[in-house]
Amino acid sequence: MTKAGEYRTGVKPIWCSGCGNFGTLTALTKRVLPRLGLPRHKTLIVSGIGCSSRLPAYVDSYGFNSIHGRAVPIAQGAKLARPELTVLVVGGDGDFFSIGAGHLPHVVRRNVNITCIMVNNFIYALTKGQVSPTTPNVRRGEGVFLSHEYYPPVDPLLDMVSYSASTRASFIAQGIATDVAHLEWLIQEGIEHKGFSFITVLTPCVTYNPQWLFEIIREKAFYLRDTEPVLLPESSPERPWLHDPGDISLAFKLAQVPLLEQPLLGVFFRGKSGKPIEDME
Ligand code: SF4
Repeated sequence: MTKAGEYRTGVKPIWCSGCGNFGTLTALTKRVLPRLGLPRHKTLIVSGIGCSSRLPAYVDSYGFNSIHGRAVPIAQGAKLARPELTVLVVGGDGDFFSIGAGHLPHVVRRNVNITCIMVNNFIYALTKGQVSPTTPNVRRGEGVFLSHEYYPPVDPLLDMVSYSASTRASFIAQGIATDVAHLEWLIQEGIEHKGFSFITVLTPCVTYNPQWLFEIIREKAFYLRDTEPVLLPESSPERPWLHDPGDISLAFKLAQVPLLEQPLLGVFFRGKSGKPIEDME
């Protein structure tokens, strides 16, 4: 049995003190990987470029800090070549949903059995806080957050959960880096799910997010629980319903709820997926 400490390398993270990426690293190395007892030599973490993409350096498994936007196809290739590996792919909102966005629908339709952890801090952090595809646009009523007062977004945001519901990813979830206990559960569910798993992690960037952003998200967060009523914001035209993560139409309705009005955390959808592509003859 592999012990918790054995999943951390001796490399000291160079993330800012208080960065939300520590939450995801802790969830993985202290909780999920030890609990699942995944052998380090059969675990691969692929990342792209960005603050969160430094993560493979800190996990004592196989890892590949690859190139901007291309982590998903690299992870997919590794899984197809070596199906016995547990493959995770980690990256930021700018990495996966801007330059890398074209890869996502294809990994979804092939239902490759990998777990995609999308770190959403609403900006490009490594390159000093420029707007990303997930930065809310205040002028379109998407929120009151600007990533950088000098360069406000001009485009509407691209909602990652809504996108993954529309492409019918076979597992869709959203967690928050500040609730490690909940996040570790989501990541474990994603790894154990047979098929492509997409997990968004709302992650504070203490350097470029305004401090109150995550105070608001934490304050308004609502945890989805199977068979329990879903809390909707007052602006929602929908009537509350009982949460059923097996129903993709409900997942799509959940994904329409504006993130900053009512952040929803939990499993949005868990499909009875067909065979992942690597299991086909
Ligand atoms: Fe984390 Fe932001 Fe610092 Fe990057 S810039 S390490 S995302 S706090």
